[in-house]
Amino acid sequence: MLNLTFQRGTEFQKFTQARTKPFLPFTGFSGAEILEKVKSDYFPELKEKRILFYFIKDCPLASIFQEEKDCSIYIHTVINSPRTPPEVLSFIFKHELLHLKIPARPIKGSMTSHPPEFWQKEREISPERIKAWAWLWINLRPCLELRTKLERIDVRSNWRDIWNKEKMDLSECEKISRKKISPGTKGGDARLLF
Ligand SMILES: [Zn+2]
Repeated sequence: MLNLTFQRGTEFQKFTQARTKPFLPFTGFSGAEILEKVKSDYFPELKEKRILFYFIKDCPLASIFQEEKDCSIYIHTVINSPRTPPEVLSFIFKHELLHLKIPARPIKGSMTSHPPEFWQKEREISPERIKAWAWLWINLRPCLELRTKLERIDVRSNWRDIWNKEKMDLSECEKISRKKISPGTKGGDARLLF
């Protein structure tokens, strides 16, 4: 879904430009507080690191950039809605911070941002992952584009039609997602079914 880039390419520049005009938060909770809680509960080794997050547009669903001192997490503003449950944002933060802990590595000759040990650790620290993925795919599906090779999810420009629409609630999404998981499929693979 969510991509990490340790580079200073055009995308990095585009995002640093965009963050000078971030969207004000419209969520019904403080994203900054959730980020701090995720950091202290699951990533104590990042205690001294300043992690900032921004809601911007024209970016993938979420990504994290390592800068000289700080880290910045960019989240597409389609998530920046009063209808977004806090569990979805906390899941996204866990996913992004995990990229700092489990870096990309080559697998069968190609650099992989999400090696198996990444998904393993995500399963361990994110019991909410199935319902969070389900919520994202069920509610935002019309504007999401899964780009498997690039290991990221892009957001189409029709996000404006969706961001403040009624959304299916988290527990309903979870029920649907669990029904879709066939016996023998590991819960962590639920994302592949949407
Ligand atoms: Zn990722």
